[in-house]
Amino acid sequence: MKEIEEKNIETENNLSQVTAPLPTREEQGGGSVGSSPLPLWEGQGSGPVGSSPLPLREGQGSRPVGGGSVGSSSLPLREGEVRVRVLFIDRDGTILREPADEQIDSFEKFHFVPGVISALRFLRQHTDYRFVMVSNQDGLGTPAYPEDTFWPTHNLMLEILEGEGVTFDDILIDRSFPEDNLPTRKPGTGMLTAYMDGSCDLAHSFVIGDRPSDAQLAANLGCQAIVLSPSSPAASPSPAASPSPSSPLTCAVSGGLSAGAAILVPSWDKAVEIIYAGPRRATVTRTTRETDIAITLNLDGTGQSHIATGLGFFDHMLEQIAKHGSIDLDIHVNGDLHVDEHHTIEDTALALGEALLQALGDKRGIERYGFSTDSTSPAVPPSVCAGSGTAVASAAYTLPMDDSLCSVALDFGGRPWLVWDAKFHRERVGEMPTEMFLHFFKSLSDAARMNLNIKAEGQNEHHKIEGIFKALARAIRMAVCRDIHHMQLPSSKGVL
Ligand SMILES: [Mg+2]
Repeated sequence: MKEIEEKNIETENNLSQVTAPLPTREEQGGGSVGSSPLPLWEGQGSGPVGSSPLPLREGQGSRPVGGGSVGSSSLPLREGEVRVRVLFIDRDGTILREPADEQIDSFEKFHFVPGVISALRFLRQHTDYRFVMVSNQDGLGTPAYPEDTFWPTHNLMLEILEGEGVTFDDILIDRSFPEDNLPTRKPGTGMLTAYMDGSCDLAHSFVIGDRPSDAQLAANLGCQAIVLSPSSPAASPSPAASPSPSSPLTCAVSGGLSAGAAILVPSWDKAVEIIYAGPRRATVTRTTRETDIAITLNLDGTGQSHIATGLGFFDHMLEQIAKHGSIDLDIHVNGDLHVDEHHTIEDTALALGEALLQALGDKRGIERYGFSTDSTSPAVPPSVCAGSGTAVASAAYTLPMDDSLCSVALDFGGRPWLVWDAKFHRERVGEMPTEMFLHFFKSLSDAARMNLNIKAEGQNEHHKIEGIFKALARAIRMAVCRDIHHMQLPSSKGVL
């Protein structure tokens, strides 16, 4: 290993940082390559890479070389700041589309991820988060990935973003290969020691990326993770659409990172909403002598669910709420089914309603009303729920299911009420008594403190109740939409 030179640099932010020379791959005998926290702008030399919290511009002068190992320093605080909140932002697959060969080394491969520019611009304008780019660039500087194929597109990306008011406080790039196992490579935190000395509010910071390694980095830092998953069900309106086996969503789950650990989002719009207005999750446990219930719910999810109530048909119905409501929902119930189904269904509704109420929080910015009705009703303008992708487009549509037609309207106005206009002639559908359908929605309305108006017509009992659950899911999806440009309480009373 080449001898490390240390030097303090005074930057525009009065930040002193330890830097070290970057050993080339050749110097290391083709083995591990050191990482550097800073990209050079074209013209600053192709060899060593400097280390600084701000990316240099051409003409700003050269910097002492850095890399190999990254020094740490205290993060400077702006006037009035107590602790800094940071967005650690991945590059490939998050800012720029990642090509199949995972190497953006030509302008033909240069494409922004949809929505990223406006999203970062909004966050720059409306939040105080520091922006830190963190990227693995496997073998950068080797013959397989020459420097002169990397910097032109990287610099163009920075120029375009800066033109939109988006600048980065720090850019950290690791050049090693996975087999090098360097601590600087994500999900390692070796490049981020400056952010781990207590000067940052990591618990309220985010890692934004597209891979399980980004979520793992967040876990290693103690941050929250937002993983872009554009192939998730929420982004794919077709019922037949599902994540491909190699999709980030599937990877995140199969990699042991559940939705509880990382917030999976279908788009940058949803990521911005969560960062700006906060996640909307709830965990409810409800234990009595009759039932033991655990529910986790994420209103800003992608429709993932794990339901186990002991009643197959009931599970199927609750899955509709997750799938068509774009809600991540885990429900596990151990009920006294040896008595009958009543307590299990009733208590699940109460716990689910409580989870909805908790996750909604103060309800600022939400649409509040939701409905799924026939096509003669006026559609809600798409602008009211830009962050939800296809949600609004699917809200003002007829919800038929073969012979049946169902409508659900709701109001998260803080008061319970149920209007029920649906008749069932069979005693049961699956293991679920049809008399419990009304009771489920009454209990749900009570606990969530929402008005619920339900109507259904048709011949097939299975179709009718499934249509009701789907319509309820769509209505919830509409009602919980948040408009981060109007974070007002949707009530003239001042409280909901
Ligand atoms: Mg990535």
